[in-house]
Amino acid sequence: MLEFYYNSSMKEKTIFTYKIRRASLVVLTSLVLVLTLSSCVSTRQVITESWADKYRAIELSDPELYMNTISEADTYYRNESYAWFWYMANNNFEDLSFTVTGMDRVNPSTMLVHINQKHTYAGNNFDFDYTIVYGLEEGDWRDQDLDFQVREIPGFKIYYMADEKHLAAFEGFLIKSNRDLIEVFGVGADDNFPVKLYTDRELLRQRTYPIIERQFTAWGEGNESLKIYTGFPNVAMYEATIRHELVHHITLKMSSNRLCSWYAEGLAVHYGNSVIAGGDYIMTRRITKEDARRTIAMLEAVNPATETNEREVACYYGVSGLIVKYIAETWGDEAHRKILFRCGEGGYFDRAKEKDPEAILQPILHEAFEYVLGITAEEFCEGYLVWLNDSH
Ligand SMILES: [Zn+2]
Repeated sequence: MLEFYYNSSMKEKTIFTYKIRRASLVVLTSLVLVLTLSSCVSTRQVITESWADKYRAIELSDPELYMNTISEADTYYRNESYAWFWYMANNNFEDLSFTVTGMDRVNPSTMLVHINQKHTYAGNNFDFDYTIVYGLEEGDWRDQDLDFQVREIPGFKIYYMADEKHLAAFEGFLIKSNRDLIEVFGVGADDNFPVKLYTDRELLRQRTYPIIERQFTAWGEGNESLKIYTGFPNVAMYEATIRHELVHHITLKMSSNRLCSWYAEGLAVHYGNSVIAGGDYIMTRRITKEDARRTIAMLEAVNPATETNEREVACYYGVSGLIVKYIAETWGDEAHRKILFRCGEGGYFDRAKEKDPEAILQPILHEAFEYVLGITAEEFCEGYLVWLNDSH
């Protein structure tokens, strides 16, 4: 059962009544004053209504109603919001509520809107606060994302929270990783690619991928910004994280978002983490050679979103990375480039909209492997196990 709380709306209504009554005492004295006050009040009502619309949109699975609340000026944020909407609408969120707890006017066309969100998901209760910037766009007040600070550097637009402490380090990792990955894939990050740095890990999860049952460090989709939790004290380890996520961004772009999970993760591990760590998951002793004796079918059976066993998660990433390495060492990096473009031939794939995207994406990868490598999935798996034995 879903509910929407109008607490703040009622509070705003009280202010409205008071102001109108005061205005009526000075009837005729200042029509301008009345108009100014009523326009101020209606902004607050309009924004509160916008949250009622968000709630109704989720309840009714109405993407158009939801997207009407989102800024039209920022394509990445629109894509992120659209994906978030489907995660919320397609999954069992109980006792969901958005409460507008306050608003601050920054200037005539900008409001800071303070929200408390509550819901229950997969047996866990969530109760958290955040602040959304609302901007006036061609007469409509629109949600423009969290109240990030913004900084532009060559190639990237960095969004960060007020308490971010390691901005310079993150900027350095982004610029270097992008330069290196252009060498591998022939393609880099989008121009002025947005990167959103979160100091609040729960907020990253809730605003990005609320159906995952474990906390994660970073998130990227083909047509979205890169989002990173920045709160770990060991800043140096983020070089691998950023490289991993930029690989996702670039390879999802090359494949029109048509990558099944294990292959996407394998690319990001092999061309991201393993480069920085100085070796694959066996070489860096994160998994054993025995752990790595798996088939593609075994990887396809794993749901990384619900897998909470750390060892199983390590095996999933490690083996995926090893299979990508096997292809790179046997057929060359260009085989991956060809597989990616082959997968993407069907046009952009809207993953968030599908209840079971993997069931669609896994056969696409099988076809691309056969097309590019010239062998069947069975032959491929046999080849991998032989390579594993000989190389480790
Ligand atoms: Zn990943």
